[in-house]
Amino acid sequence: MKLYAPQYYKDFACIADKCRHSCCIGWEIDIDADTYAYYKTVSGAIGARLCENISTDGDAPHFVLGQDERCPFLNASGLCDVFTALGEGALCQICTDHPRYRNFYADRTEIGLGLCCEAATKLILTCEEKMQLVLLEDDGVAEETDETEEAFFAFRARLFEELQNREKPVAARRQAIQSMLGLNETDMAQRVQFYLGLEVLDVSWKKRLSSYTENAYVASDIMQEQLICYFLYRHLADGIDDGSLPARVAFALHAAQLICMLAESEEDLFDTARMYSAEIEYSEENLEKVLEKMN
Ligand code: SF4
Repeated sequence: MKLYAPQYYKDFACIADKCRHSCCIGWEIDIDADTYAYYKTVSGAIGARLCENISTDGDAPHFVLGQDERCPFLNASGLCDVFTALGEGALCQICTDHPRYRNFYADRTEIGLGLCCEAATKLILTCEEKMQLVLLEDDGVAEETDETEEAFFAFRARLFEELQNREKPVAARRQAIQSMLGLNETDMAQRVQFYLGLEVLDVSWKKRLSSYTENAYVASDIMQEQLICYFLYRHLADGIDDGSLPARVAFALHAAQLICMLAESEEDLFDTARMYSAEIEYSEENLEKVLEKMN
C-alpha cells in the first residue's frame, strides 16, 4: 500500500495561536476510543479537567464546548492545554488529523489538506508549481487494482493535464474541460441565490453572499488552477462507483469560480476559500445539495 500527497503537503504546519479561525472553536470534537481510554488514566489537574470536560452523551465521547463553542482546552493564548500538559501524542485522532482528509483506493491512499484551515488554504493557493502527487510511504506490498479504478486514474490524469496546461489562460482550460464532459456554463447570480437557501454556519458567509457584486479583483490563473485542482483531487474519488464524476468535475469548476468571484483581494480570496470549505465541504447536507444541483 502506498501513501500519496500533493507536493506542498509536507510543508504544512498548524499556526496555533496565530490562527484567526481556529478549528478548536465551533466544531464538535469527538474523541476516539483509544484516546478516551488513555484520558481516563491521566492523573493530576489535567486529568481532573479531562474528566470534567468530556461528555459521553450521544454517539461518541466528546469535549463539552464552552462559550462561543470553544473547546474547553483552548486557552486564552490560543494554545491547547492538553498539548501543553501531555504532549502532541495525547491529542485525540480528530485533533491530530485536522485538517487532513484521505481518499482510499485499492493500492493507495491519497491524503490532502482541507481548505477550511487558513494555514492550509494559504499553502495551497500560494503554491506556484503545478500540483503533483508525491509518494510519502510505501510498505512494499502491492494490492490488486481493478479496471474501474485504472479508468478513473486515466480520466483524472486527462483532467489535470488540461487544467494545468499553462500555455492557455485558465478560462480556456476550464472551457476545454466543460466541452470534454458536455457541461454547461453556470449563471453565477442564480447560484448565489441557491447558496443563500442552504444551511448557514457562520453569518459572515451569508453576508458575503448577499453583498455579491462584480468585483474588480481577479484571482491569478495559478490560484484559480490550484483551487480547481484541490476540489478535483479531494472530491472526484467518491464518484467512482456512483456515476457522479461529471457532476463532481462541474462542482470543482463551479466552486473555484464562485470563490474567485466573491473575493475582493488576494487576502480575501484565502478567507473566502476557507469559508466556502467550512460551509459547504464540511457540511454533508450542504455538499450533497450542491452536488445534486450540478446534475
Ligand atoms: S484551523 Fe488550521 S491553523 Fe488553525 S488551529 Fe486548526 S489546524 Fe491550526
